Amino acid sequence: MLKITGMLLSTFLLLPITSFASPEDNYPESLLYSQPKKVAKNVWTSIGATQYYSYENGGHNNNLSFVIGTDSILVVNGGSSYLLAKALHDEIKKISALPVKYVVDENGQSHAILGNGYWKEQGAKIIAHVDALEEVSEQGLEGLENLQTILKERAEGTELIAVDETFTDQLTLDLGGLKVELIHFGPAHSVGDISVFVPANNVLIAGDMAFQQRLLPIFPDTDTAEWLETWNNAFAPFAEDKIIIPGHGDVTDFKTVDQWTRGYLAYIRAKVAELLENDGSLEDAYLIDQSPYAHLETFDQLAAKNAGRVFEAMEFE
Ligand SMILES: [Zn+2]
Repeated sequence: MLKITGMLLSTFLLLPITSFASPEDNYPESLLYSQPKKVAKNVWTSIGATQYYSYENGGHNNNLSFVIGTDSILVVNGGSSYLLAKALHDEIKKISALPVKYVVDENGQSHAILGNGYWKEQGAKIIAHVDALEEVSEQGLEGLENLQTILKERAEGTELIAVDETFTDQLTLDLGGLKVELIHFGPAHSVGDISVFVPANNVLIAGDMAFQQRLLPIFPDTDTAEWLETWNNAFAPFAEDKIIIPGHGDVTDFKTVDQWTRGYLAYIRAKVAELLENDGSLEDAYLIDQSPYAHLETFDQLAAKNAGRVFEAMEFE
């Protein structure tokens, strides 16, 4: 018996270390959840985990992308932490020696902004939508403390820093002949959501406007009616024929993010409207059948909460 145990133990120790990596990490040798992949000639992305922040995923639960121009590089999202930003930079350096000139935050959420300090040290200019500053000043510190609790020593060096430049509707940047357009399509998932378009490659880095593979979260300040309006009137006509890097989930096309983002918003709003017509209560909203979306990541954590928030909002619409 002892002998068998000993054999099992030595077998265990001889297995390559990577086979013990958490299933929550596709790229164990880096803090990044996955190795950056090439989406188009100038565009790369490192797809984040479609789960919540965890120590194992290093806080990398959204997509971190970069655009390589002729004289400089633009990064989309500062990332959740100083070390995560550095991990992305380490990967960028393997691909290009050009400097990172701009870091664009998709909104004011922790996973967009908390790594900005690293990029600032590298000499990058940090850009966000003017409304994102509101979220940073209201929730930035709380987000930082939350991340520090979850990431422990992996949050080392992370601090909240000021954004260098803001814009309102649109801003065009030049990476040495390669144009990149920052676009605010309108109110969507969270305050100051923006998308980044690379015309030369037909790639739209949609940011939190668009989700797939995980259920989208409806926050207390998310206006789902406005999000749908922005989607139908501004985002869809623009995005229809583009390669889409969503805020969360793998690189895809418009049809897919339309199904899992607009489709879900329309579905949950129709269900809640039906409930309100029948004098249903908040408790009933929590029980709404959302089974067509049950296979999506984060469904268990978010589905009932989302329904409750839509109910509370639609009561007053
Ligand atoms: Zn996000």
